[in-house]
Amino acid sequence: MNLQNALDFNKFMGKTHTKPTEGHKVVVSKSSSVPLYSSCLRVLLLSIIFINILSCTQTEPSRSEFALGTVCTITLFDQANPSVYRDVFNRIREIENLMSVNISSSDVYKINENAGIQPVQVHVDTFIVIERAIFFAESSNGAFDPTVGPLVNLWDITGEHPDRGIDKVPSQEKIDEVLPLVNWQDVVLNKEDYSVFLRRQGMALDLGGIAKGFAADEAAFIIEKAGITYAIIDLGGNVIVMGKKPDNTLWKVGLQNPTILDIPFIGIIRTPQNSLVTSGVNERFFIQDGLLYHHIFSPLNGYPVRNRLLSVTIITHNSMSADALSTAVFVLGYEEGMILLESFPGAEAIFVFEDWEIRKTPGIDFELIDESFRMN
Ligand code: ADP
Ligand code: MG
Repeated sequence: MNLQNALDFNKFMGKTHTKPTEGHKVVVSKSSSVPLYSSCLRVLLLSIIFINILSCTQTEPSRSEFALGTVCTITLFDQANPSVYRDVFNRIREIENLMSVNISSSDVYKINENAGIQPVQVHVDTFIVIERAIFFAESSNGAFDPTVGPLVNLWDITGEHPDRGIDKVPSQEKIDEVLPLVNWQDVVLNKEDYSVFLRRQGMALDLGGIAKGFAADEAAFIIEKAGITYAIIDLGGNVIVMGKKPDNTLWKVGLQNPTILDIPFIGIIRTPQNSLVTSGVNERFFIQDGLLYHHIFSPLNGYPVRNRLLSVTIITHNSMSADALSTAVFVLGYEEGMILLESFPGAEAIFVFEDWEIRKTPGIDFELIDESFRMN
C-alpha cells in the first residue's frame, strides 16, 4: 500500500479538535438534513457543502431531486411560476442523460464503449463540455483529466459505508495497468461533425469533475430567462447564488467543514451573484487501515490526491469553470494551484489544509466562525 498517498484518518478527524463554544449555536439535526441555527436565523442546508443563511421572515420555496448522482436543490424566490422548476429539472435530466457514465444511452457511455474503435457523434452540449474539459486539462498540465474513467472504475469509491471496509484499495499492479489509459491528449475532438474519439481501447471519459458545473450554468440561464430576480441553485455543492437579496445585502454562504465532524461549517463567505464550488476529501471516501481514500485522483500516480489539502473552494462567475478549477487546483495543491488561478482573473479560492489552516485569495470576504481553524 502506498501510505504516502492516503490521509491518516485519525489525524484527519482532528483528535485535538475543540468543538466550538455554545456561542456558535449550531445545532445539527441528525434525523433530517436541515440544520437549525438556534438564533433568529434560519439556516437552509443547500447541500452537503454549502449553507446559506436567510432571515427568519423569509419563506424559501424550493424543490429537490436526485440527479447527476447527487441531490439537486433549486430555490426560487419572487413566487416563481412552478413551471420554472419543471423546466430547470428537465434540463438537468437532459444533461444527465447525455453525460452520465452509467446510462447506456448516454453520449459518454457510447464514447467509452467505442474507445479504440471509432469516433462517436455526440450532442452539441456534450461536445461543449468535453471541449471545455480538455481546455482545463491543458491549462492545468493534466492535473484535471477527464479521462480518469479507468481509475474511477478501478477504485470504485461508493462512499456509502466509508468506515465499514466495503471499498478496497486496489493492488499496485492494477493501478499500473490502468494508469497509462489516463491521458487527455488521446481524446480526439472533431468540430466538423461533433464527434469524439478515445484513441485507445480501455480509455474512458468521466465528466464528474465538470458536468454539474455546466448543468448549474444552464439552470441559471433558464431561471434568468424566466425573469426571476433571485434564486439559489445547488447541484450537490455546485452552488450559484443569483441576483440581489431583497434587503440588498450580499449572499452569505457557509463554507463546509471538510473534516467529517458534526460541526457543519467553518465560516461564512459573503458574495454577490456568483458560483461557488468545492472539491474536497469528504465528498466520497472510504477508510482502510486507518487511512482515508477519497474520489479525486492524481493522474500521475493513480492514487487519491494527497497534498495537505482537505478542500478547495473556487468562487467565480461561471459554474463550469469553478467546477473544473476546484478539481484542478485540488489536484495541483496550493502553490501550483495559485499559479493556475493567476490565469483566471476574477477566480477566487479558499483552501482548507489538513492542519486546520485556512488560506484565501484577497478578493474573498470570508468570516471565520469555527475557531479550531486558523486563517493564514
Ligand atoms: P464532486 O463531483 O464530488 O463535487 P469534484 O468536482 O472535485 O467533486 O469532482 C470529482 C469527480 O471528478 C470524481 O468523482 C471523478 O468522477 C472525477 N475526477 C476524479 N479525479 C479527477 C481528475 N484528476 N481530473 C478530472 N476529474 C476527476
Ligand atoms: Mg469539480
